[in-house]
Amino acid sequence: ELELKIHGTVLEINLNAITHNLNFYRAKLKPRVKTMAMVKAFAYGSGSHEIANWLQYQKVDYLAVAYADEGVTLRRHGIYLPIMVMNPGLLSFELLAQYDLEPELYSIEIFQEYANFIRGKGLPSKVHIKLDTGMHRLGFEQHEMTQLFELLRNNPLIKVASIFSHLVGSDEAIHNGFSAKQAFAFKKMSEELINVLNYRPILHLLNSPGISRFPDFQFDMVRLGVGLHGVDATQLHQDRLLSVSVLKTVISQVKNVKQGETIGYSRKGVAEKNIKIATIAIGYADGFDRKFSNGVGKVSIKGQLAAVIGNVSMDMCMVDITDIDCKAGDEVIIFGKSPTLLELAKSIDTIPYEILTNVSDRVKRVFY
Ligand code: PLP
Repeated sequence: ELELKIHGTVLEINLNAITHNLNFYRAKLKPRVKTMAMVKAFAYGSGSHEIANWLQYQKVDYLAVAYADEGVTLRRHGIYLPIMVMNPGLLSFELLAQYDLEPELYSIEIFQEYANFIRGKGLPSKVHIKLDTGMHRLGFEQHEMTQLFELLRNNPLIKVASIFSHLVGSDEAIHNGFSAKQAFAFKKMSEELINVLNYRPILHLLNSPGISRFPDFQFDMVRLGVGLHGVDATQLHQDRLLSVSVLKTVISQVKNVKQGETIGYSRKGVAEKNIKIATIAIGYADGFDRKFSNGVGKVSIKGQLAAVIGNVSMDMCMVDITDIDCKAGDEVIIFGKSPTLLELAKSIDTIPYEILTNVSDRVKRVFY
């Protein structure tokens, strides 16, 4: 409550709920299958080093971030787990070496650049080889494998810590056939690679929804992201996960608006009758999307839903509280028990991942 009064908008994060969710997925894993936690994008908006530290304490085996500077932040906060960097920039190699970060190598070009760098250093380096099995985002394709073998043979300082690929549609059952094709392509390509290396790297394919659907494709490790945050993208067992975060703000002012008057920028909100509105301390600069304007977004006040009226502005927006008994200083739930993260995401035709990662830096994170 104190934080709400100081900062206006807070994201409360329940660390024990993360542990519960981690254990839920762990219970699905075969013995000795490792866990990599995806803590990119500020750990899905929940606080990079705080979440990484908690997961380290929970004994996950690996962490992954998208960019080198995200890994640097984790190291500077004392995270000692191995960290994979999925999209290392060509100018980030020195940082990677300095902070003991392990790059994903996904193309002939980046392999060559990185190998040149490592040769210059004269020290061995762990890397992660990404295979493109159908996503067509990053990764080596089948026709590049011979060239990749050659590069691996010629660069013994490059140690392959893992080989991995990513499923494009593990959240939706209609893509099960394609997921299976990807898994078989992954198995084939990684086996070819292992034949060239004289050791066996860690193989991994599944993200959170993949763990729910494909027990046979666990290989040696799984990559857990959104599931840790209590979102079951498959919707197969949402009730078994705990929701992790609650985004809250406060009412700054309550007003009566007469029929025919308008509310907010561009006069987009119109009072169809005499109404009561509340100005709440969250806007698009906090991650409350402007698409929530004019009835699309609903927030919860005193357990009742209040619709956004008018355009969402940068730091604030207005909601219709005609039927709600509330006052300035009262708490407003943006997402939590109700509306849920999923409901809020669906109302603007997006996914919970985007809502979570859009919660901006200025929103205070409170861990409990
Ligand atoms: N693996 C890769 C390569 C990813 O890019 C992501 C997230 O986008 C994940 C795993 C985690 O996925 P999820 O959050 O669905 O568990």
